[in-house]
Amino acid sequence: MSLLRSRSQFLGRMSRELASCASREEVFRCLGRGVMPELGDWCDLDVLQDGVLQRVAAFRAPHGELHGPRGSAPSLLARRVARSGRSEFLQGPDEQVAVLLSSSEEELPRIQAAEPLDCMAVPLRSRGALVGVLSFASREPRLHLDEDALALAEDLAGCVALALETDRLRQELERTRYHAQRQAADFQTLLDVIPVGIGIAYDQECRHILQNAWFARVHGLPLESNISLSAPDGERQPIRYLDEKGHALTPEELPMQRAAATGREVLDVELELEVNGQRRGTLVISAVPLFDEAHRSRGAIGTIQDVTARKRATEAQRFLAESSAALSSSLDQEQTSRTLVRLCVPALANVAAFCGWRPDGTLGMLTVTHADPALQHIADEVARTFAIPEGHPIHEAMTTGRPRLIPVLKEVDSWYAGGEAQRQGPCHSLGVHSVMLIPLTTPQGVVGVLLLGSPERVCTEDDFTFAKEYAAHATYAIDNARLYREAREAIALRDEFLGIAGHELRTPLTALQLGLQRLVRESATPGDPTRLSKWVVTCQRQGERLGRLVGDLLDVSRITSGRLPMVLEEMDLSALVEEVAARMGPELEKVRCPLVLKLRSPLPGRWDRSRLDQVLTNLLGNAMKYGQGRPIEVSAMATPEGVCVRVRDEGIGISPEDQARIFGRFERAVSERHYGGLGLGLWISRQIVTQLGGHIRVESTQGQGSSFTVELPRWVED
Ligand code: ADP
Repeated sequence: MSLLRSRSQFLGRMSRELASCASREEVFRCLGRGVMPELGDWCDLDVLQDGVLQRVAAFRAPHGELHGPRGSAPSLLARRVARSGRSEFLQGPDEQVAVLLSSSEEELPRIQAAEPLDCMAVPLRSRGALVGVLSFASREPRLHLDEDALALAEDLAGCVALALETDRLRQELERTRYHAQRQAADFQTLLDVIPVGIGIAYDQECRHILQNAWFARVHGLPLESNISLSAPDGERQPIRYLDEKGHALTPEELPMQRAAATGREVLDVELELEVNGQRRGTLVISAVPLFDEAHRSRGAIGTIQDVTARKRATEAQRFLAESSAALSSSLDQEQTSRTLVRLCVPALANVAAFCGWRPDGTLGMLTVTHADPALQHIADEVARTFAIPEGHPIHEAMTTGRPRLIPVLKEVDSWYAGGEAQRQGPCHSLGVHSVMLIPLTTPQGVVGVLLLGSPERVCTEDDFTFAKEYAAHATYAIDNARLYREAREAIALRDEFLGIAGHELRTPLTALQLGLQRLVRESATPGDPTRLSKWVVTCQRQGERLGRLVGDLLDVSRITSGRLPMVLEEMDLSALVEEVAARMGPELEKVRCPLVLKLRSPLPGRWDRSRLDQVLTNLLGNAMKYGQGRPIEVSAMATPEGVCVRVRDEGIGISPEDQARIFGRFERAVSERHYGGLGLGLWISRQIVTQLGGHIRVESTQGQGSSFTVELPRWVED
């Protein structure tokens, strides 16, 4: 075989094998296996790493395996070739060969011992730059290195440099790919966790917008949904973005589409997001365009912030501040409840009503406001006619004090069941489908229920929380108005009472004065002693009446400021009844009321004698006053629980409504023109009986008479 042919075969084989190496180590192994014996029986590979020449491989015959530690110092010959950039060749025998092949003086004896014959080294270049040195040596004369071997080594150097460069590029590519993957993973993690919505579109029309996890949550749509409003038919989601006037934006008006279409960024656009017809929140959206190498727009990236909570908090603060001012501007309860509902519209609802007890004792809408002035008259009509029955959610809220959110009214008909068929028409035309019921609770109990309803908006938990906060706020105003009204009523009552009390006191006082004048006159001229004693009795009776009135007035202040003092003693109730009856005998005679006593004697027990006397005197006095001259019966008997006294007359009687209130302070069921009295007797009697552990009740039929029953335990403890 010709030298040329074997040379080209060698190079062909080496370049093929080197080109198929998948790593640096494989390049080394291939080199070690391939160069011997054609290029001697020693081969070293040194490469430039960070500008420093370093030994990376050393092969020794017979098998060409790797030798020597990596990174050991290159030989003098390799260093010289690296410096000069030119191949060197020294044919032995020559002492210089060992010197050139050793890296230092210390190594020289070891190299000399190996008895190298020839040596040569060639530079490795890649794209013209030196990347390393390939050195060879022979120890056997049959492997003699000559000019031909040098030429072959130089050709081989090209293949080795190419293989090393390929490996370097491969490594660089892998590093780049690794970094790219890591960055992609980091980016994905960022997209997943960042509390900001991100939308990315890779086409100029933004027909496909990818969303991150946060944005998907805001939408309430699956992560993989295409959220673009310019998405192809069939892919489009039921999403709408509304501006501050409530108008839905077209796809082209949206920030990402605008940024991609114009190539300019669009910043801080505030929009309301609506998905499937439901408000999802207020978003602030910014978008920047993406460009290709030719600076043509190729899509957009959008960032989305949810400012719902912030906006709501600001609006809520403003609303509460404004409402506080408005609500506290009046102390009139009706005016305040009108303001209360007016403020709710349209901020909280389309229809707002204040429900409460009407004077006739039924529950109804006391005032109502509709967001649409054109529908106000229907709302008023509903308020006027809609009687809220027991069991209705409004009735429940009123009686339990529990607020209630009904996001969607399912049984609209039963909601309006309180109205008759013809009244349901207007109710339906209000079309309220989502309702919040907020009771206004004061320390005295529930004063009313705020009804907030909307036809199309679905009330959310947030709306509910805010409405409750507002109601709590408003309750102060309502309660203030109530307290003010009560204070005014109390003042009016006091004035009325003072008028009656004055009148009541004046009557016996005048009679007493007249009696005294007559006494003075009668005693000045000697006359009939029976006439004298008659006037004394009259004066005495008027004095007693005055004393009772003053006593009642004193009792009012005693009861109001604490308790009535009780002095308990063992006594006989029947004897006390007889005593009172005897004392009142003359008066009974005067009004011609026959008195029947039915007493079980004796009825011993432990009570306050003078207070029980007061109760009996009052009951018998009333029976006399309202008895219309008909018989009166007083009975006293023992009961399993204690004793029972009943005073029954056949007089004017008391209506059922009045029966409920006559035991109240200053309460009277008769006109002051016909009957005198302070409206205190029964109130004081009830306080006394209650304090003695018993109770007092009335049974009566108007026009037929009344029966007052006092039940007492027998042995009252201190
Ligand atoms: P008054 O001083 O007005 O009698 P009371 O507290 O004793 O005050 O009674 C309250 C009201 O109850 C009376 O004004 C009257 O309307 C009604 N009343 C009390 N007792 C009778 C009775 N025996 N028959 C009819 N009405 C009565």
